[in-house]
Amino acid sequence: MKKYKAIFFDWDGTAVINRWAPVDSVISKIIPLLDQGIKLFIISGTTYENIAAGSLHSLIPVNCLKNLFLGLGRGAYNLGFNDAGELIVLSSAIPDIEQRLRIDKAAFEVHQYLLKHYGIKTDIVFSRPNYCKVDLLVENDRKENLFLQSDEISRVQDLLLSHGYTYGLAGLLELARKIGKQNDIDIIPTTDAKYLEMGITTKGDNVSYFMQHVVGKNNITCNECCFWGDEFRYLVEGVPGSDAYMITPESSDCDFFDVSGETSLLPGNVVGVGGSIESFHKFLTQQLNLY
Ligand SMILES: [Mg+2]
Repeated sequence: MKKYKAIFFDWDGTAVINRWAPVDSVISKIIPLLDQGIKLFIISGTTYENIAAGSLHSLIPVNCLKNLFLGLGRGAYNLGFNDAGELIVLSSAIPDIEQRLRIDKAAFEVHQYLLKHYGIKTDIVFSRPNYCKVDLLVENDRKENLFLQSDEISRVQDLLLSHGYTYGLAGLLELARKIGKQNDIDIIPTTDAKYLEMGITTKGDNVSYFMQHVVGKNNITCNECCFWGDEFRYLVEGVPGSDAYMITPESSDCDFFDVSGETSLLPGNVVGVGGSIESFHKFLTQQLNLY
């Protein structure tokens, strides 16, 4: 294993098992790497409050925080820390009210379409920074584990088929794009099976920003960057997992590792290492001891 100068990683399911799990283990491994000058990027769909209960800045020494960055809200926010160790917004992609209402309307029309033509019930979360979440499995509560659950893909496919919808998850992505266009908004839809997410950015926008503004500016090459996640694999053909959006034109020559343990349907440039969070933690420890 080579020594990387920039490490991008997903949070839920990759760094911690869920957002309520203790963070001490991963924090104790990232602090010495940050101290060595390694750039670390947490790329997550969630908010700062949901990562270490919003206390990352108090768990990491101020001199290390300058090497830590967060790309959150599936492309909505790129965050860093100033010299005083305070969280700062480096860039954001927040729609104005007109654009916001078009996103919301498009999500509501997807709900209406599925209910009217197929009798499929959905719930919508409207309060995310630049996207809506359309819940396709309204009966299914994920409890504390908010990431993709293994049986959800077949459950949602069964649900669609049992209502006569034969286009599958890929069809829903296309539907979301089409209804977006009708509402004059370029929706970039993604899905983790339970949720169809309709927004204007993805994790790819976080990665593009940091590749340009941090990796490039520090003369770090793609060869010296790696990406870790637990949802790289395609859910079904034509439907990438949420971490696969981290593979962008800027990052595609970097190294990609998936800890999910599922090796089928991985994008070509992703290595399936399995082992869940322990695998990522072990990697961090190994990196610390390489020079
Ligand atoms: Mg994850």
